[in-house]
Amino acid sequence: MKVSNRKRVLVTGGAGFLGSHLCERLLLEGADVLCIDNLYSGTKDNISHLLPNPHFEFQRHDVTFPIYLEVDEIYNLACPASPVHYQRDPVQTTKTSVHGAINMLGLAKRTGARIFQASTSEVYGDPEVHPQTEEYWGRVNPIGIRSCYDEGKRCAETLFFDYRRQHGLGIKVARIFNTYGPRMHPNDGRVVSNFIMQALRGEDITIYGDGSQTRSFCYVDDLIEGFLRLMNSSDDLTGPVNLGNPVEFTIRELAETILEMVGGTSKLVLRPLPHDDPRQRQPNISLAKEHLDWEPKVPLREGLEKTIAYFRTL
Ligand code: NAD
Ligand code: UDP
Ligand code: UDP
Repeated sequence: MKVSNRKRVLVTGGAGFLGSHLCERLLLEGADVLCIDNLYSGTKDNISHLLPNPHFEFQRHDVTFPIYLEVDEIYNLACPASPVHYQRDPVQTTKTSVHGAINMLGLAKRTGARIFQASTSEVYGDPEVHPQTEEYWGRVNPIGIRSCYDEGKRCAETLFFDYRRQHGLGIKVARIFNTYGPRMHPNDGRVVSNFIMQALRGEDITIYGDGSQTRSFCYVDDLIEGFLRLMNSSDDLTGPVNLGNPVEFTIRELAETILEMVGGTSKLVLRPLPHDDPRQRQPNISLAKEHLDWEPKVPLREGLEKTIAYFRTL
């Protein structure tokens, strides 16, 4: 029996970059937060400041195994997100997305909890449609080095929609585009963390390919606001909903901006482009604007300033 009227919220992957910000925000909203994480790519340091809070609880657990809990809402974020991390153990990456989704959906089915899935713009693969809208089915290589992540996330979406159709679950699927901010892992190989660390250490800034490929970067606080708005939206809004910042930059522009902001003596150098690296990526966020009244507010330079300040403390 529930004796408190606080919402009990489960965050899987809560010790990761996005998960730790989400836990923090949910506590501010007055929720009882249970964070489960196997610490594959996240760290206790990301949540150590939350541990003294009596409404926060951490449990080390791998979502590929069943877990029995009583909760009102589930945010399913567990999954390594950077190519370096997810390609280190690709079989585990697929298991995390697929078995993890099945277990969390099973939990949601038993408890009647509403469940949110952290899906990704990677479901669009290397897209021929630009900017990407939710109707676009994507162009994904099923057997390449990114497939463990992309196809795992696509299968998780399938499972979410089948649990909705078959069992009537309350689902919320967000397709997240590149997001950055404090608590990104300094060695995760993602472009923002790499460039900032390289600039801070005075090392060469490694542009893969010729740097003309594009990405659109969302600051973490903007994204988390989108998560809450989607979770709290009406039951018929299942998504998928794109969440990301539509302002697009080339990777070379990003490198030049970070170098200018950090200062120092680093040089821009070209390195081979990894396999299946998407040429372009920019979200169409009309759906989120219309139904969630949401759009990012933090411009790139402002977000980068906070992120650089965080990396300086490491
Ligand atoms: P992250 O690697 O920092 O966080 C993922 C967390 O999941 C880590 O703490 C990791 O230890 C945990 N985890 C991994 N496998 C697990 C398992 N089997 N059981 C329990 N915990 C497990 O990455 P992030 O950037 O915070 O990403 C969070 C979620 O958002 C991921 O699902 C990711 O796919 C999605 N996403 C992120 C971005 C982005 O730009 N950051 C973009 C698209 C989608
Ligand atoms: N599950 C879980 N916690 C729960 C309920 C289910 O981890 O509270 C897992 C369990 O391992 C199960 C999976 O979720 O295999 C899918 O559950 P579902 O009820 O859909 O399927 P079934 O139990 O019939 O296989
Ligand atoms: N990238 C780069 N140098 C780096 C790391 C990444 O040029 O040191 C490029 C990468 O090839 C890709 C883009 O930056 O085109 C974004 O890479 P990231 O791994 O951050 O995310 P994703 O490819 O998953 O969007």
